[in-house]
Amino acid sequence: MELKKRNYIDGETQDPTYLGIQPTKNILTCDGENKVLCNRAEFCISLIDNGELLVNIWNLDGILLKFNNYGQRKTGYVEEEVLGKGWINKILPENHIPGLNEMFNVMKGGKIPPVTECKLYCKDGRDLDIMWSNYLMRDAKGNPYLAVSVGMDITELKNTTKRLTESYKELQTINNKLESAQQQLQDQLEQQNKIAYYDELTSLPNRSLLLQQLSSAITSAKLTDSKIALLFMDLDNFKDVNDTLGHNNGDELLKVIGGLFSKFASYNVAAARFGGDEFVLLIKNIEDKSVVVSLCNEVIEQFKKPVCVNNREFYISISIGAAIYPKDGQDEYTLLKNADIAMYNAKEQIGNRFILFDDKMNQRILEKLDIENGLRRALKNNEFIIFYQPQVNINYNKIVGLEALIRWNHPTQGLIPPFKFIPVAEETGLIVEIGEWVLRKVCEQFVIWENNRIAPKRMSVNISAKQFEQNEFIDIVEKIISETKMNPKCLELEITESIAMKNLDYTIKVINDLKRLNINTSLDDFGTGFSSLNYLMRLPINTLKIDKSFLDNIVLNSNEELIAKTIIKLAKKMKLDVVAEGVETPDQLNFLKKQKCNIAQGYLFSKPIPSKEVEDMLIAKRIFICRDDFTYI
Ligand code: C2E
Ligand code: MG
Ligand code: MG
Repeated sequence: MELKKRNYIDGETQDPTYLGIQPTKNILTCDGENKVLCNRAEFCISLIDNGELLVNIWNLDGILLKFNNYGQRKTGYVEEEVLGKGWINKILPENHIPGLNEMFNVMKGGKIPPVTECKLYCKDGRDLDIMWSNYLMRDAKGNPYLAVSVGMDITELKNTTKRLTESYKELQTINNKLESAQQQLQDQLEQQNKIAYYDELTSLPNRSLLLQQLSSAITSAKLTDSKIALLFMDLDNFKDVNDTLGHNNGDELLKVIGGLFSKFASYNVAAARFGGDEFVLLIKNIEDKSVVVSLCNEVIEQFKKPVCVNNREFYISISIGAAIYPKDGQDEYTLLKNADIAMYNAKEQIGNRFILFDDKMNQRILEKLDIENGLRRALKNNEFIIFYQPQVNINYNKIVGLEALIRWNHPTQGLIPPFKFIPVAEETGLIVEIGEWVLRKVCEQFVIWENNRIAPKRMSVNISAKQFEQNEFIDIVEKIISETKMNPKCLELEITESIAMKNLDYTIKVINDLKRLNINTSLDDFGTGFSSLNYLMRLPINTLKIDKSFLDNIVLNSNEELIAKTIIKLAKKMKLDVVAEGVETPDQLNFLKKQKCNIAQGYLFSKPIPSKEVEDMLIAKRIFICRDDFTYI
């Protein structure tokens, strides 16, 4: 194999060797199957030219002696263009030149510089990234005389790394976005969970969560054969707080009370806001009912202290009903229902107390339900009738007025008095419809009597709290008056003292509205409530009806006598008519006469009677007292 006679020798040094390679020594290489002996120098040059690495051979002054084929292919420069200083001037960026000079200085000292990376400019303007390793060729004495730089094209690698870095960054951004989306989702879920299971106002568990807690408490109580207690609590007269102080204060109060209940919560006790002004305590693992009793007492005790809302102190009481698993209910709904029933019983007894559920309560509920259904039927089938009770001027035994009193003519039970059905009608709201029916019927009847010239001066009709509180109350009254052609001056609407005092400003407004329609108002059952005389003075009423209880116990120099006397005097001072209710005995009559209370109503004169019977009295205009059985002639 013949070695090409190319001049690899720097012109100046005229080194006869092929770049320091001993050309004489042969080495073995392969050509397919054939073993070939080739010249060592030729072999090396062939390697340099055909390998996939850039190879620069320099003298130690930085003069390029060889630029291999691969380098030429890569950069687009032929060797002749770059040998000597051409490489540095054309291919190497200017900012790398000082570094290269430094490198030759190092190599002159016999040291090998570290691997470096640099850019190269190609002939067509492209850039290449090359990683260089440098070697020294030494003579027999070990002195360096040539430098070899072997460069690997890492442009692709760098681009790939760059792309990979960018992709990694992108991935990281996506990952960050995903993480924040995940966080958002988690926050949303937590928020939704909060909304779904916690009460916004008090932050206590809500009805849904309570039901879940109760259901799992029952499951574990079944397994461990233990007992659970459920306290169902409702604030007394919370509606009044809302009505008088406004919903903002009402909400604030609920918040404070929610905080109070949350203090009862512990490992064994869960507190929840069931809705509105209803709260629940669920107590697990109770030994016996004494635990329930003491917890109820503790709650009631808490409520004896004033509650501070917006720097104002409020006293509010609570009614509690308690039911115990498994005795009072085997599932969450029955347990809740029975605790609620017990709570209603506590409420019926004026609240501020606790009652433990007992089976008889369900019986009473069923009776109530029966009445409610019956009342709906009664309205449809016209089963109500109106009785009238005369109001008498006791000086002349003259009928000056009538009070309309409803009766229920039940198809199987006969006449049912109002105290047996009015409370249920009130509770269910049916009283509004019933009351409207009464007012219309009474006005129609009065107009007939008026046309027959037997009508008395005053026709009194009882108005329930629910009717009075209705927004449309005045409109309804006005409509009935105009449709029945009732003389409004003869109509007197009776509201009880407790209704009147619920919301004094509202009461005054409604009474004034009635006044504008020429309708009078009377305060019924006066003396049974707790209204102060101050409040009474502010009410623009026409008549005061002294409650029967004052006359019942009138004995000379008794408290009742004193109170009755005072009320009569006061009413006269206020220029109000006074009607004494429930007059049964001649003694009571005499007392009233002495006090110059001129109008009375009671069994002494007449019980409430049907319209046909009262008509006879109206024709006679007078009433005659039969002292034995208090019937009239
Ligand atoms: P009230 O308005 O105070 O009516 C007087 C009640 O006292 C009537 O009872 C009457 O029968 C009774 N009473 C009158 N004089 C005597 C007496 O000398 N001795 C005794 N023991 N009782 C006497 P009643 O008719 O049973 O009505 C009870 C209550 O039911 C009424 O009390 C009133 O609050 C309510 N009520 C009656 N009718 C209606 C109505 O149409 N609408 C409304 N919302 N309530 C009504
Ligand atoms: Mg009345
Ligand atoms: Mg009364």
